[in-house]
Amino acid sequence: MNLPIYMDNHATTPLDPSVLEAMIPYFTQHFGNAASNHSFGWVAEEAVEAARSEIAALINASPSEIVFTSGATESDNLAVKGVTDALRSKGNHIVTVATEHAAVLDPVRRMGDQGFEITVLPVDEDGLVAPEQVEEALRDSTVLVSVMMANNEIGVLQPVAEIGAICREHGVLFHTDAAQAFGKIPLDVEALNVDLASITSHKIYGPRGAAALFVRRRRPGGLKAVRLTPQMDGGGQERSLRSGTLNVPAIVGFAAAARLAHESMGEEAQRLLTMRERLRSLIQAGLDDVRLNGHAVNRLPGNLNIAFAGVEGESLLMGLRDIAISTGAACSSTVREPSHVLTAIGLDDELAFSSVRFGLGRFNTDEEVEYVGARVIDVIKHLRALGVPQPVAQA
Ligand SMILES: *Cc1c(COP(=O)(O)O)cnc(C)c1O
Repeated sequence: MNLPIYMDNHATTPLDPSVLEAMIPYFTQHFGNAASNHSFGWVAEEAVEAARSEIAALINASPSEIVFTSGATESDNLAVKGVTDALRSKGNHIVTVATEHAAVLDPVRRMGDQGFEITVLPVDEDGLVAPEQVEEALRDSTVLVSVMMANNEIGVLQPVAEIGAICREHGVLFHTDAAQAFGKIPLDVEALNVDLASITSHKIYGPRGAAALFVRRRRPGGLKAVRLTPQMDGGGQERSLRSGTLNVPAIVGFAAAARLAHESMGEEAQRLLTMRERLRSLIQAGLDDVRLNGHAVNRLPGNLNIAFAGVEGESLLMGLRDIAISTGAACSSTVREPSHVLTAIGLDDELAFSSVRFGLGRFNTDEEVEYVGARVIDVIKHLRALGVPQPVAQA
């Protein structure tokens, strides 16, 4: 067993060696610009189109429905700002959920600054939004509903298929941020009635710098095709929806990573689930006053999020220098604010600051799970014995 142990696979994942191998020729001999009209360009273009077809097939889409971007953040921005801006004349209401990633919430808020009305739906104590809540929130002026598939902090899986069906019935466009779900659980854009979906490479053992937005071309029942205002103007790449020279090696790696993830999806999910449950039972057997955050069953197999009452999550991280886990989302690690996700499921600030996320992934082993479980129990017992300030009892 090698130290340090990486158990933060929701923040990013290590590149799979076979993905790196697939990418290398596109850094070296096949360096061409995919838009160039000569043999160097043709080779690059061919690789990009093969990647597009492969990724499309994995989500039951057609290649012309895949727009390559730089990350799920960009995909989310393109979906939220692109759709709402294009549909301004039709309506000005957006529906989303309190536990969404900032890459959805912040673009939604920005559209709010520009005159859109926003409904942010609350979640229950397990982190779930009910499809009926979405239906009740819809207005004649609603132009977009955005609900994530899997949460990046507590792993909770939203009822996306039911929400998709409701949106379809009401003729409202439905976007899902599937950054954590893609490659880990099945994502079929037909079965889920999704009109737009954000997916990304670096959460599935692919490189950073490649991602995609699925944009539905044909909607059933005579509904109009999805229209988007581009957020990046220039050379007209990606059917003018996302200008800029394509990152060919990263796109090739993204497709290789996606293929790999789908080949072993079922087995890998089972393996991660077994390890996750082992880690959970070790911790719960070894310590009092621990609370599982998020739905016990309806969550990503590799996700465990636990509140250790009376201990700061940051103190636990300091005590676990040889183990990489996290408090809150990676992107907000420097901001000293309680997680908006944990607050939304009802945790007070103190318990939110006591929470830690374990993200199990492809390269974790049973041996590492045993080690992490034992170390966490040791460090928490030690910190609690130090008599960390306890909350003052209410008079
Ligand atoms: C990681 C993540 C993002 C951002 O993706 P990038 O590719 O890093 O820009 C967005 N949404 C969710 C749910 C994520 O987990």
